[in-house]
Amino acid sequence: MREFKAVVLGAGGVGKSALTVRFVQDVFVETYDPTIEEQYRRAMEVDGQLYSLEVLDTAGAEQFTALNEVYIKSGHGFILVFSLTQETSLREVENLRQQIYRVKGANSNIPIVVVGTKMDLTNEREVHRSTTQQLATRWELPFYETSAKRNWHISEVFEDLVRQMRDRYPSH
Ligand code: GDP
Ligand code: MG
Repeated sequence: MREFKAVVLGAGGVGKSALTVRFVQDVFVETYDPTIEEQYRRAMEVDGQLYSLEVLDTAGAEQFTALNEVYIKSGHGFILVFSLTQETSLREVENLRQQIYRVKGANSNIPIVVVGTKMDLTNEREVHRSTTQQLATRWELPFYETSAKRNWHISEVFEDLVRQMRDRYPSH
């Protein structure tokens, strides 16, 4: 079975753990220790092929740039997470995106998916769809709007990333 490693990155409190745990264990965790960094493994089928996916849920220690570099070097693919209810969390995604290209090389076709979380909190929404559509076009990256609470579009995120990793690392 082909094995890939995905790294989940983003500002603290945006819902990285909720997203990861929803995918791996199919439950919604209301409160999760924000300092915990956890590695999970799950098998998943994509296009009739079975993959073993390792998912590293990082603790929001974004100020430790050196640590991010270690994460970035260790991953085949990246899930950059922001909250649709917090416009400023998009800025961290922009920083991380640039950092990934610095570490991996700008032309290396790195598998990345950008995820806006907490889609169910419609009244608290700060990031409009037009903003994410513009960024998706400018960055040439797939964007997904999700809710870990409602289990909206979570599996699509991971399937997209697996397809990108599969194509990017054909002999892995
Ligand atoms: P992390 O620091 O990025 O790992 O964020 P967490 O996964 O710990 O989530 C931070 C807070 O947002 C927690 O209180 C979660 O319950 C909440 N949260 C995460 N995802 C969602 C979601 O999809 N919908 C709602 N309503 N709350 C969410
Ligand atoms: Mg967390």
